[in-house]
Amino acid sequence: MPIHEQSLIRPENLVRQDKLTIDGVDVSGDWSTFIETRVVTDYNEAMQDEIAALPGGEYIHRCWQCGSCTNSCTVNAINPDFNPRYWIYLIRLGMEEELLRDKDIIWQCVSCNKCTYACPRDVVPEGVMKATAHWLELKGHTRPSTATVFDEVFSDQVFATGRIEEGRLMRGFFARTGQSLTQEWLVGMIRGLVSRLPVGLLMRLGLAAVLHPRTGGWGRTRQAIADYVAEQDASRRTALHLPPAPEARR
Ligand code: SF4
Ligand code: SF4
Repeated sequence: MPIHEQSLIRPENLVRQDKLTIDGVDVSGDWSTFIETRVVTDYNEAMQDEIAALPGGEYIHRCWQCGSCTNSCTVNAINPDFNPRYWIYLIRLGMEEELLRDKDIIWQCVSCNKCTYACPRDVVPEGVMKATAHWLELKGHTRPSTATVFDEVFSDQVFATGRIEEGRLMRGFFARTGQSLTQEWLVGMIRGLVSRLPVGLLMRLGLAAVLHPRTGGWGRTRQAIADYVAEQDASRRTALHLPPAPEARR
């Protein structure tokens, strides 16, 4: 296939002779630059459908590559390698190996949604970035991000009790991400809160941390949510050609 854009040329495939004369003509330096042939055979033809099957990726097919998302992007202004338009291009072509070269920066989207407002085709590029980061995790290309871990701890607590107890949520999140609870900024923040909050509220928070209160009659709601989550997870794994999750096989 022809080369569509310069960013697809790998630096190691650019060959340049510092000293070269052909038929008496000096073509040293940039004059002798050529690109070594690279044959791409490992297209993932299902890639666009896989991203579209994840929340946020539904409208990726609408992209016409105008570049407004990248031009308006907060992260691109700091790091030009962060390029939503280019990644959407790779996904639509099925160039999985090329996308994986940037797998460690795609998660850096800060969800400012500037791209969403700039996009003339309602692609919702912010959603596509989220879907792509999720796709990388599900396919095992990247470890679950801290945001994903927070979502899991939050959801587990809601499923178990039908409510959120902030102290337990933070303890669970810090434990899962290997962070200390005695970090200076956290201790300072808690001290500041304790000195400002009413005593009655502090007592209620303390009791909640010990007693783990539950929402009354939560059982049926919990089952309905668990069934829905399992159904959604199964449908995404099917779309991504992944085996069922271990707990779903039982
Ligand atoms: S939402 Fe993400 S991709 Fe869109 S402009 Fe903001 S940082 Fe860039
Ligand atoms: S702004 Fe929209 S249509 Fe333009 S390149 Fe980005 S996603 Fe595609």
